Amino acid sequence: MLSVDAHLADCLAAIKPLPAREVPLLEAAGCLLAEDVVSAIDMPRFDNSSMDGYAVRAAELASAGPDSPVTLPVLGDIPAGHAEALVLEPGTALRIMTGAPLPAGADAVVPVEWTDAGTAQVLSRRAPAEGQYVRRSGEDVRAGETVIQVGARLSPRHIALLAAVGRDRVLVKPRPLVLVMPTGSELVPPGKTLGPGQIHDSNGYGLIAAARELGVDAEHGGVIDDNPESVTQMLAEAALRADLVITTGGVSAGAYDTVKEVLRKLGTVRFDKVAMQPGMPQGFGTIGDAGTPIFTLPGNPVSALVSFEIFVRPALLWLAGESAPRDFRTASAATGWTSPAGKRQFVRARLEDRGFGDLQVRPVGGQGSHLVADLAEATCLAVVPEEVTEVTAGDRLACLILDQRSRW
Ligand code: AMP
Ligand code: MG
Repeated sequence: MLSVDAHLADCLAAIKPLPAREVPLLEAAGCLLAEDVVSAIDMPRFDNSSMDGYAVRAAELASAGPDSPVTLPVLGDIPAGHAEALVLEPGTALRIMTGAPLPAGADAVVPVEWTDAGTAQVLSRRAPAEGQYVRRSGEDVRAGETVIQVGARLSPRHIALLAAVGRDRVLVKPRPLVLVMPTGSELVPPGKTLGPGQIHDSNGYGLIAAARELGVDAEHGGVIDDNPESVTQMLAEAALRADLVITTGGVSAGAYDTVKEVLRKLGTVRFDKVAMQPGMPQGFGTIGDAGTPIFTLPGNPVSALVSFEIFVRPALLWLAGESAPRDFRTASAATGWTSPAGKRQFVRARLEDRGFGDLQVRPVGGQGSHLVADLAEATCLAVVPEEVTEVTAGDRLACLILDQRSRW
């Protein structure tokens, strides 16, 4: 029997992080940037107005005040997007809109609010300072400047900046595509009526949601029935499309455990007993010409989700080139329970805060591997080490936080 740590190390050793890839801008949101992004343009690209108002020479309005208005003829309009280079004649004003290029000769903008808003001529009772309401070319970014450095996680603000400098594609560490393929002839998707002997596929949906919570792309690859031809064909196709494949079920000792049979021929998948509870039967390897990693998780819903947390989650982060340390809290056991000798036990539990960070961990309901309602109640997995066979109330345990967005 393999230890949990040895199995995880074997899996990670066989997985290569995905190479950087150029993707369309919007697909890059949330990814790690794999290049330094240099702006080819100044931003602002040209001197422009920060107000709707009038482009003027500040010196010509220096005497303007509440009792000494200055009036200038208005020789035209400059809307935003105006392409023609305009010159401000001495002794005149041009009506200008926010973001419109400042005409040559102008050195300030009088906001429309300070004036009588005239169109043929304009009267102002206030004098702008030189440079007032003018956005200077290059004050934000200079052409040739690095605006985002390699390794940044691209936020919506970064996406806006990339668009502003004109990038429609960008080199990133891509989000892996995971295909989740539950196996079992008893499985029916939620929303379909159950026939005799059938159950809804819950593993597929739970695992896709868990993978998506990590920020990777995950899709349902279809339920694989227990027939060797369809298993072979579906897995071969999945290996071509996906960066990582997850199956559930069909890997224990049952007579119809087809995945195991097919994978023995299709790739390098190894089936092991791992010293853990739940989740003992684990398979991992690579399939297809591209050597696509595949995890064959046990079919019991609890075992499948616990296996995801312990093995698949770190593997996906590694594939994505991310280093995300696990979120653990230490808590005292609220009650006692027994734990199998020689196995690491992952107990579905809830954390309770008794004030000032004094955390208590309490197992939820039953611990049978088929109990999905109890699993849904859990917020953490309390980890009982291999050598411990008896947990006593008050024992300190490491607790693996399950919900990324919850307080725990
Ligand atoms: P297996 O590993 O295929 O022997 O399955 C073990 C148990 O998990 C059986 O009770 C299956 O019906 C159940 N099971 C397998 N796959 C799923 C699934 N996708 N969703 C819910 N239960 C499943
Ligand atoms: Mg099965």
